Amino acid sequence: MKSFLVDENGFYGEFGGAYVPEILYKCVEDLKKAYLPIIESEEFKKEYNDLLRDYVGRPSPLYFSKRMSEKYGCKLYLKREDLNHTGAHKINNAIGQILLAKKMGKTRIIAETGAGQHGVATATVCALMNMPCRVYMGATDVKRQHVNVERMKMLGAEVFPVESGNMTLKDATNEAIRDWCCHPADTFYIIGSTVGPHPYPDMVARLQSVISKEIKWQLMEKEGRDYPDYLVACVGGGSNAGGTVYHYVDDLRVKIVLAEAGGKGVDSGLTAATIAAGTLGILHGSRSLVMQTEDGQIIEPYSISAGLDYPGVGPLHANMAQQHRATVLPINDDEALRAAFELTRLEGIIPALESAHALGALPHLKGQLKPEDVVVLTVSGRGDKDLDTYLAHKDDPGILD
Ligand SMILES: *Cc1c(COP(=O)(O)O)cnc(C)c1O
Repeated sequence: MKSFLVDENGFYGEFGGAYVPEILYKCVEDLKKAYLPIIESEEFKKEYNDLLRDYVGRPSPLYFSKRMSEKYGCKLYLKREDLNHTGAHKINNAIGQILLAKKMGKTRIIAETGAGQHGVATATVCALMNMPCRVYMGATDVKRQHVNVERMKMLGAEVFPVESGNMTLKDATNEAIRDWCCHPADTFYIIGSTVGPHPYPDMVARLQSVISKEIKWQLMEKEGRDYPDYLVACVGGGSNAGGTVYHYVDDLRVKIVLAEAGGKGVDSGLTAATIAAGTLGILHGSRSLVMQTEDGQIIEPYSISAGLDYPGVGPLHANMAQQHRATVLPINDDEALRAAFELTRLEGIIPALESAHALGALPHLKGQLKPEDVVVLTVSGRGDKDLDTYLAHKDDPGILD
């Protein structure tokens, strides 16, 4: 059987690859040759796993959600990435990449960020490892995500506001790639999701695969079998979903459900549902589904959730969708908001708005779930950063039904 993981050429079906300017070719080749031997070495594994345990706080709990299970007629477990240091799954990847950067002899770190979550994770590991760090961030986002900007600065990172384009994540990424082109020898570019040129999508998925590795033994302990019937996760670029499905992607007993950001609706013109609304194109070094006009201009995405507001999607996920390995559901702003309030009231957990999209998939599945079905849903992050948005919508009609 063909695997849904990356092939030897860096592709997932027709998606993936490394489409980079000539000046970065050597850089990307070096990384391609180095990443597997390093991350599979015993030395790396020990350092990585020690930090995940003692610094991040792993393993993250697999929590049986009793009241949500009753509501949705299944056995629902929540994978609690919200309990990680810095409040989301992004730190798993940032720690892995900075260890890799050090082992490759790099001395300077750059990153892009939209909402600031990946920027904070990167600034955090740079403080930990005493590495200089520059984070590119669209000027619009610098204004919108003021607290995360201050966090990054307090951690010692330089935040570079990008004034081109719409001054959001896509523009920040372009600028980070430009920086990398100018400093290919000493700089390591820590990408925050399963996007970018090969080997990034595979590398990030492997570094996040600690999520599914833990789900396996945790389910064995709790259910006496190491696989669920359903996995549910939200998708921006795809890293928490990639980590959640990694060890199950070729196990067809496990159904995969991905929630992308519908925004105001897939056909409204205000959406970030790239799999539903995108077409084949190349963005940030990778061939994947992209939200673009007929002549290839990127369409600005929209979602209430800054972490899902990206006009592309990882090649792993585009291929899973195309091959019908995963069911992809666009979850609109209002559905995500309702789901966030529901989890808060039923379980006392305030989820990130991104994670609320995964929770918003549950009402869509209710008709097909059986009481004995084991569902594992990844809560990718905590909701403290989204409190202003939640407060602005707390009196919306139907929010607490
Ligand atoms: C960044 C972020 C996401 C989206 O990114 P993926 O790479 O798709 O996981 C989801 N949830 C949280 C909490 C985030 O910070």
